[in-house]
Amino acid sequence: MPPHDENEDPLTLGPSMNDWTMIKSAQSSAAAMEVPTKYCKTCNIWRPPRGHHCRICDNCIETQDHHCVWLNNCVGRRNYRYFFTFVTASTLLGLYLLGSSLAQIIVYMDQQNISFGEAIDHFRVPFAMVIYGVLATPYPAALMGYHLFLMGRGETTREYLNSHKFLKKDRHRPFTQGNLIKNWFVVLCRPRPPTYLNFKRKYEDGDQRLGEKKGKRTAPLKKEFQGTGGPAMEMQNVPAAERGFQGPSTLRAMTPRP
Ligand SMILES: [Zn+2]
Ligand SMILES: [Zn+2]
Repeated sequence: MPPHDENEDPLTLGPSMNDWTMIKSAQSSAAAMEVPTKYCKTCNIWRPPRGHHCRICDNCIETQDHHCVWLNNCVGRRNYRYFFTFVTASTLLGLYLLGSSLAQIIVYMDQQNISFGEAIDHFRVPFAMVIYGVLATPYPAALMGYHLFLMGRGETTREYLNSHKFLKKDRHRPFTQGNLIKNWFVVLCRPRPPTYLNFKRKYEDGDQRLGEKKGKRTAPLKKEFQGTGGPAMEMQNVPAAERGFQGPSTLRAMTPRP
């Protein structure tokens, strides 16, 4: 943004804080869509599309789903699949607890040929677990169902709730892949990008800030970096251009040659 002019009227509105980013659509009905891109005054960055600032985390979060008060953390691009795994595992665990506790009472009841009440009297803790299972399972189960629904639509919780501000005909889903199964795959199986946190921290071996390490290293490390875990980036010498800096290739192509 251009710097502020000192002589300018102090009541003048600031520069635009809103821009538009073109998104290539996966659906054939729309080739591309524009989504707003905002400037974050706290983080001093232009947020990537689907990014939002979280007041509690005091950070911009890429593809922010929501700030989870139970985890005390944002759920966003890099941890959404773990959040979903957590919710799914909790649901399964709840169902398992319910089923196995109930089975224990019923099997005992059958074996001893006694009433359900008498079986409960013998197995009080499993019965307490049945009650606990009935009360505690619906919450993660509902969350799991909700997120299966959201993932299938290609939306985040935030985008879905926000879309309700608009009339039905004005709601758009620029990030959907067109069908439910594809949307699930895209959310749960896409590559996990490197973190932006502590970007300048010293490099450690296996560090994935600057890209994931996949398989064997193709280029051997330079001698001075061997055994040290390597430099922050595998930098290579770039041969100097013949006539110094020549500007971007598009500009170069446009300049008439003598
Ligand atoms: Zn921010
Ligand atoms: Zn947060």
